[in-house]
Amino acid sequence: MLFERQVFLVAGLSRSGVSAAQYLVSKGAQVYLYDDVDDENVRAAQAELTGLGCIFIPKGELEEKSDRCDILVLSPGIPVDHPLPVSFRRAGKRIIGEAELGALALTTPCIAVTGTNGKTTTVTMLEGIFKAAEKKAISCGNVGRPLTSCLLELGTDGVAIAEISSFQLETLYSLRPHVAIVLNVTEDHLNRHYTVENYIYLKSRILKNSAESEYAVLNYDDPVCRTFAEKTKAKVVWFSTVSHVAGGYLADGYFCFQGERVCAESELSVEGNHNRMNALAAMCAAKLFGISNGAIAAGLKSFRGVRHRLQNIGQLGGVTFIDDSKATNVDSAVQAIASVKGESVLLLGGKDKGYSYEPLFDAIKNSGVVHAVIYGENAFRILSAALKRGYTSVTLCRPFDMAVRVAYLTAKRGQNVLLSPASASFDAFKSYEERGERFYEMLGLLRRESGQTDVDTPGENGGREDAEAFE
Ligand code: ADP
Repeated sequence: MLFERQVFLVAGLSRSGVSAAQYLVSKGAQVYLYDDVDDENVRAAQAELTGLGCIFIPKGELEEKSDRCDILVLSPGIPVDHPLPVSFRRAGKRIIGEAELGALALTTPCIAVTGTNGKTTTVTMLEGIFKAAEKKAISCGNVGRPLTSCLLELGTDGVAIAEISSFQLETLYSLRPHVAIVLNVTEDHLNRHYTVENYIYLKSRILKNSAESEYAVLNYDDPVCRTFAEKTKAKVVWFSTVSHVAGGYLADGYFCFQGERVCAESELSVEGNHNRMNALAAMCAAKLFGISNGAIAAGLKSFRGVRHRLQNIGQLGGVTFIDDSKATNVDSAVQAIASVKGESVLLLGGKDKGYSYEPLFDAIKNSGVVHAVIYGENAFRILSAALKRGYTSVTLCRPFDMAVRVAYLTAKRGQNVLLSPASASFDAFKSYEERGERFYEMLGLLRRESGQTDVDTPGENGGREDAEAFE
């Protein structure tokens, strides 16, 4: 890319947009900036970047000034059918994402992790494993730091562990991971990608540049992932929690890799079959990088979960509160229902993303869920799915705070209140993090009202934040 000769427009000034603009400036490019939103964060980013020589385009001047730009660097938060990328496409100009800029410049090996659910968990497990092996690795992409901000630190001997979302895959063309992991593909983001076929296609793009010398770590238990094996030149390494596959599997209480016992399952301190899958995927990638079994065991042992993912946040009156606010689609909530021990009152609802909620109620019927409290903008769609599936133990209750109160009043001593909403948070919150924090605050409020003052603090990894909260 001839940075000095081309004019870039960075659209969307979230964390990745800021990093893209800083990177481009460091390469001597001329950079224009734009954002549809005018809030405190955008103004702060604008001030910082104009200080570096970037030029901010106000909304009214977008059409005229964007004409001067050759390449659009589009934030993953902006859909590719927004009028701005559409105008670039019509003019035959390039549209790339921040991750593409990073991929073009990356000189070190990369593990790329995608899938509908489990990306952050798997990346965090891998980070722990590489740390235990004393190897330089940086988690980046959709979690932690944008790829362009890691390039210098990665140097020539680091490994990029990149979480890659379907939103990023829309504008990512050049990434060629040494190991690409696809964890699972279930219905999500249909409000953005329109059809399941398109969503599956985008996920498959993580493998499109892979050569025979590289690896695709694929979930054998997931029917969509299985089809990806036919679409890649990379060597396929399977993982499965049910079959003895060529790759990573479970046998006699051990995580195994290609006939070898790597470490005891008991080393993994988080619950749930989905976490065993994530651990198997992480183990496969680590083995393909030559990491020792001891370091893999130590890395998995050190993993304490990630905030807002099935996190026990405390008790009140014998009722346990579990925060799984990051369960922003049906499959993640299904995994939560299957993983949580004992009986639960489930909190469901938020912003709709266009998929069916009926599979959720099939899972609920055979689980420890004793009642569902449904709230949020999509409450009636969820209620209608429940009734269609013959599940009637429901209360419809809005807003969120009231729903939490009702769930607590409904739960009996010994039961859980499980927030695993199967929906995005944007109807009432800025992000799933804010929704999880509000759940935690509600526990504090209920405690104060009942005369209890002790508030448990969330566990380790509590401060971790996603780069851009896509749900
Ligand atoms: P992502 O980064 O892909 O959104 P996370 O690791 O943040 O995934 O987890 C998101 C939600 O999905 C959480 O509710 C978590 O409990 C659940 N989850 C994690 N791993 C899996 C998996 N392998 N399959 C299904 N759900 C999962």
